[in-house]
Amino acid sequence: MSDRMKPLSELSHETLATVEGLIFDVDDTLTRDGRLEPVAFAAMHALAEAGVRLWAITGRPLGWAQVFAAQWPIEGAIGENGAGWWWREGARLRRGHFEKDEAVRDAQQKTLETILHRVRAELPGVKLASDQPGRAHDLAYDVGESVDLDDATIEKLVAIIEGEGARSMISSVHCHAVPGAWTKASGVTRALAASGVEEFRLFARWAFIGDSANDAAAFDAFSLSVGVANVREHLDRIARPPVWVTEGDRGVGFAELADRLVRSRANA
Ligand SMILES: [Mg+2]
Repeated sequence: MSDRMKPLSELSHETLATVEGLIFDVDDTLTRDGRLEPVAFAAMHALAEAGVRLWAITGRPLGWAQVFAAQWPIEGAIGENGAGWWWREGARLRRGHFEKDEAVRDAQQKTLETILHRVRAELPGVKLASDQPGRAHDLAYDVGESVDLDDATIEKLVAIIEGEGARSMISSVHCHAVPGAWTKASGVTRALAASGVEEFRLFARWAFIGDSANDAAAFDAFSLSVGVANVREHLDRIARPPVWVTEGDRGVGFAELADRLVRSRANA
């Protein structure tokens, strides 16, 4: 596994110079202890000024993605692990859905409501995550953020979610109920298609940077996949690790990749 992960310093200047855009994860890729790192935010501005197209993708609520798209120097932001996105079109912000069929989206909402009621009745001690109010397409239960749920309770929660026909997805802090087929890779494909970027071009000419198991689908799909150094803590849950890994962790690692990308353009 480790022989796939090469130091970023070995990635050639010529390859970096061909990168058209960068898709990046947010938590523990730009942030440290939940706060956006100054070096990472400065790096985002430097990338935008150098003409590198930027999109964020996160497991966080779609409501957060809307704020990122509005306030950061980026084209758009995808939320809830690919379920939906907000992007800029001139001065306007526009919303996109992974699931285009409104009837299917309504059915997915009904599935979420059923899960919500069953968990409330059958597992009264299990609470929704504090970021649930900004969510539009999934449920996030707190399993390790402000509480520490035991494995038996998490198993019961997963059984309810899957028994109602949704997927369960467990991170270190949340257990998600996901009623659709989106992943970070398929979500980014649909979001960027709306901006005129074809899938083969996206996976061949754009780079992805992330840190953990919910980035696994993207590490697998992008030929230029990069992990910030803290990705090493999650390798047991990532089938295909990133090809390249930064020396710095979290926002410092993001800034390291950004600096290489910006310099590749300055010297081109
Ligand atoms: Mg992350």
